[in-house]
Amino acid sequence: MGGGNDAAAARLRELPAVHELVAKLGAPHGLAVSAARQAIEEARTALVTRAAGPPATDADAIERRARGLLESLSRPTLTRVLNATGVILHTNLGRAPLAPAAQRALESAAAGYSNLELDLDSGQRGSRQAHVDALLRELTGAEAALVVNNGAGAVLLATAALAGPGGAVIVSRGQLVEIGGGFRIPEVVAQSGARLIEVGTTNRTRSEDYQRALEAAPAALILRVHQSNFRSLGFVEDVAIEALCGFGALVIDDVGSGVLADAAGIPALSDEPPLRRSVAAGAALVCCSGDKLLGGPQAGLLVGSQTAIKAAGEHPLARALRIDKLSLAALEATLMLLRDPARARLEIPVLAMLDADEGTLNARARRLRAAIGAGDAEVVASTAKVGGGALPLLELEGPAVALAPELDPAALMLALRRQDPPVIARVHDGRVMLDPRTLSDEEIEPAAEAVGAAVRCLSR
Ligand SMILES: *Cc1c(COP(=O)(O)O)cnc(C)c1O
Repeated sequence: MGGGNDAAAARLRELPAVHELVAKLGAPHGLAVSAARQAIEEARTALVTRAAGPPATDADAIERRARGLLESLSRPTLTRVLNATGVILHTNLGRAPLAPAAQRALESAAAGYSNLELDLDSGQRGSRQAHVDALLRELTGAEAALVVNNGAGAVLLATAALAGPGGAVIVSRGQLVEIGGGFRIPEVVAQSGARLIEVGTTNRTRSEDYQRALEAAPAALILRVHQSNFRSLGFVEDVAIEALCGFGALVIDDVGSGVLADAAGIPALSDEPPLRRSVAAGAALVCCSGDKLLGGPQAGLLVGSQTAIKAAGEHPLARALRIDKLSLAALEATLMLLRDPARARLEIPVLAMLDADEGTLNARARRLRAAIGAGDAEVVASTAKVGGGALPLLELEGPAVALAPELDPAALMLALRRQDPPVIARVHDGRVMLDPRTLSDEEIEPAAEAVGAAVRCLSR
């Protein structure tokens, strides 16, 4: 026992000093220090716990490990991945991929200066909102529009601007929801400084519930929130936006997903509340997200009456929630595509994936299986989800490529995530599945290569 301890203590004393290892690495100082510290620390831990196997603790091995760490620290951690989950709006994977036109707009705005807040005709200072204002009015029928950093920001700004401290906001108990990432409607109302008035019950809220609340608090406004990521079924009742707008109070409608009037002609989208309907009903402000079913960049859209948009634009939060020029460029390009639903369905990836026909999906699945090798994969029937808190009940049917059942799913998923580019798949019935719906045609070959490498790495 004692001898083992002495040997370990001796080896601990022999660990290189950080500055010695840093000198050998020949990398920028801060980076080299991080890599050296971590490599030495790992070796120290291995000696103290006497862990078997790696990391090795001799000087050469520690230096090799430090060089490996240096390489991984020099690579950006935010990286392109291949989404083979079949979840179209995967929040963990960055939600909506952008249309080519939006990518080009973003790149051009990033590469140089832009007329972000300059009116080129007058040479005077302009508003960044001018680049999307007319488009949003045209697409939704609203009098005015404002865009901010994200959907959550839009709801917070709308509530703060129209109710604010001292105000009151009426919300149905069926709509006091959590959208995800800790965004909870009661807390958003609290942040705005307004008082929350709950009406109705979890499953049923009627016109009389709102009317009674408005009699007690005539200056209150009504906030309606779309049940984005769940549905209540059975003995349920709620009040349509048209009726809500008929009570005489200001109405904020948080529709969440950002479907435009004709839903780009995609039947599945007809279950989501279109912006234009709420605008036509007379909502003071309608809020939605830019990177859900709209298929654009992260953004929060507000459309509504001139006075309500003016109040939102002048609120101090508007500056704090300001949209950046890159998102704005991508948003303008996406909205321009949405003017033409037929084109939008082809060019906006989220819409194209939703609308992908069986022939396209089958062809992609067969190409993927062939590239992986028939021995390791087969095409099976499966379903995909929209995700991102939209259309929670919708199951999109289509093929998936199921990988060899004898491979341990967790180990295979890990090996896939470790490829370059990483492949994110899903496990169903104990098998790893790749869904061609969320892979573009160009991504089929790289996905197949990654699968091949992952399978080889497991069977080694
Ligand atoms: C998604 C969603 C939000 C938040 O939008 P983000 O763009 O994710 O910030 C707010 N309200 C509803 C109803 C939503 O579905």
